[in-house]
Amino acid sequence: MKLSGQVALITGAARGIGRATALAFAERGIKVVIADINTAGAEETVKLITDAGGTACFIHCDVRDEEQVKQLVARTVEIYGSLDYAFNNAGIEMENQRVHEGSLSSFEMIMDVNVKGVWLCMKYQLQQMLVQGKGAIVNAASVAGLGAAPKMAVYSASKHAVLGLTRSAAIEYARKNIRVNAVCPAVIDTAMYQRVCEMDPRIAQRMPELHPMGRVGRVEEVAETVMYLCSEGAGFTTGHALAVDGGMTAI
Ligand code: NAD
Repeated sequence: MKLSGQVALITGAARGIGRATALAFAERGIKVVIADINTAGAEETVKLITDAGGTACFIHCDVRDEEQVKQLVARTVEIYGSLDYAFNNAGIEMENQRVHEGSLSSFEMIMDVNVKGVWLCMKYQLQQMLVQGKGAIVNAASVAGLGAAPKMAVYSASKHAVLGLTRSAAIEYARKNIRVNAVCPAVIDTAMYQRVCEMDPRIAQRMPELHPMGRVGRVEEVAETVMYLCSEGAGFTTGHALAVDGGMTAI
């Protein structure tokens, strides 16, 4: 999994999958920009990296805000000189509800972060990568983007949209030495998972069994998949939605 780039930008890296991926990049000697709205968590991620001898900085960014995203990419290049890898991971989940129970505000909130956020990030990252003539982007989708997710229709739709953005961008920039892929995790043990379990304790009992491996995933397992998709070993892989799901989508 050779990474020849120097600089990675990760959104939503104040905790969970984003933090684990930031640590994985840093362990490989990549300079890391942590972008998030959670300042305390993001600063903790930076400290974890720098205490271990890595290089990282925090840039506050709400991925829903075009000017902030534009500045995020500009500052990344200003500070570290390039943008070689981007993991567009910031995302939010929703309360379990059927379509007829949904609220417009919840729909707009999910779409704003999960879809508009990824689109805005890709827009400015790609502008920079086109100037450099290289780059690799990984977007955080979900197994909910590959199939149905009852009571999570809007979340599922948002992740289907992430795959639409990923595949379309992959084709648009395939001859520009820029690869765009997505990871599709099943249930991963993060704060998001813990919150869903709190909302419905039955989920905590049922979730491990939904995965043929009989357990939920670990953040490091998603992070290592992102490393692979960014690596030279994945040089002929673009527009791919890679499930990290303990066999769930094989059923
Ligand atoms: P998490 O809730 O633990 O972390 C998400 C991070 O995104 C937080 O640090 C949060 O502050 C940040 N964030 C939220 N809104 C933001 C905004 N507007 N701008 C910038 N940052 C923002 O989530 P996680 O479980 O680590 O999930 C990360 C990604 O993986 C999400 O896109 C999620 O949909 C996806 N995913 C998670 C699971 C899972 O089981 N945990 C499964 C499939 C997909």
